[in-house]
Amino acid sequence: MEFRKLPPVQEQIMKCVRCGKCRSVCPVFDEIRNETAAPRGHVFMVQMLRDGQVSPRQEVYDRLANCLLCETCSVNCPSGINVHELNAAARSYIYEENPSIGKELIFDTMWTRPALLRTSTKIMSGLQKLGLQSFARNTGLTRILPGDLPRAEKIMENIPARPARSRLRKINRARGEKKYTVGYFLGCGTDMFNPDVALATVDVLTRNGCDVLIPQDMKCCGLPHIANGKMGTARLLAVHNIKIFNSYNLDYIVSDCASCTSALSRKNMEFLLGGLKIEDEAYNFSEKVIDLNRFLVEIIDIEVPANKSKDKEQTRVTYHDPCHLANAQGIKEQPRELLKRIPGIDYVEMKDANRCCGGSGTYSLTHYDLSMKILDRKMDNVMVTGADKIATCCPSCSLQLRHGVSRHNFKCEVVHPVELVSQSYPKTLPVK
Ligand code: SF4
Ligand code: SF4
Repeated sequence: MEFRKLPPVQEQIMKCVRCGKCRSVCPVFDEIRNETAAPRGHVFMVQMLRDGQVSPRQEVYDRLANCLLCETCSVNCPSGINVHELNAAARSYIYEENPSIGKELIFDTMWTRPALLRTSTKIMSGLQKLGLQSFARNTGLTRILPGDLPRAEKIMENIPARPARSRLRKINRARGEKKYTVGYFLGCGTDMFNPDVALATVDVLTRNGCDVLIPQDMKCCGLPHIANGKMGTARLLAVHNIKIFNSYNLDYIVSDCASCTSALSRKNMEFLLGGLKIEDEAYNFSEKVIDLNRFLVEIIDIEVPANKSKDKEQTRVTYHDPCHLANAQGIKEQPRELLKRIPGIDYVEMKDANRCCGGSGTYSLTHYDLSMKILDRKMDNVMVTGADKIATCCPSCSLQLRHGVSRHNFKCEVVHPVELVSQSYPKTLPVK
């Protein structure tokens, strides 16, 4: 779809009253303090692009790509402008005029083929084990990667050797009385970087009356593609996933990943596929999509048993709101409620829990220095809580926070709430 005809570009720009509210809440503006880095500046930039006053060149892309797409500006804009959508649409328009081989390789060749993506992470994991990651770094092999990836690859240290998909069955039956049939949208980040989260998700869902189906042919949710100017590829991925999941008779489509549920939401489907032939199919699909925390609290109304094998000491847990859960979907209470229902947890709220951690998908890999400044602010707020564990619901936030914990030598584990729930049950995981 042509950039100028996209609904946010056509209809929303004119609603900007230049109040600057978005600027006052933007974590990137907070660091850079320059109007070109502010959401309001991005709105002007997109307007100028639309009207042909600036050309779609790389320099403009780079300015827009400073943004985390955290949606803080959008949820605070009094005129209801989806600033992040304007930004993403403009990135895609500019990228089409300035394509790069590195991005084509990563986002079109690898990230659209789950098996290839898993193989590449296995290779990275193998390189880490053999100590060859530093060899690749020192010899400059990593320099062929785009953006700050050569410096930022230390964020992805300790990649698990076995992705979740190789450890989970396609069909996982409910234990006890069956209540629901759910499709599990197992995102790439959970699959490759947090496989224990996927095992815990299937464990907790099956223990609570769900048949869990994991379609083997699902692909990435497309959010990394939207962030990197590849909206066309994100559309193809969305259409693929809609067709796969709609071919099953499911009550819900659940994901433990905030980015995935936001990418599969009605709002994002309207942005990507609105006005296209597939839109009705897309909206039927989105209606079933639900975040795991919300599903466990609101639909299952879960009761978590006390873990008898654990000592009586309380575990202090704090919670970081992923932007794609709190801003994109308005889900803030349910993960906290879930944590508070776990016996033995002493929940402590951190200051500015809903402030972005700077991870934002691939942002920490492409904007390492800026991302670290944002992360360090987050870690200050984490550390004063004295928490033993930081809970969060997004693989990108988890990677970033683990990096923050290690940067600050802070003794703390980063977990998904569902892992803590699963640990309360006696262990018998449904693994292959
Ligand atoms: S908050 Fe909304 S209306 Fe105000 S300057 Fe930002 S985009 Fe414009
Ligand atoms: S999406 Fe986040 S980082 Fe980007 S302009 Fe808005 S508030 Fe700033």
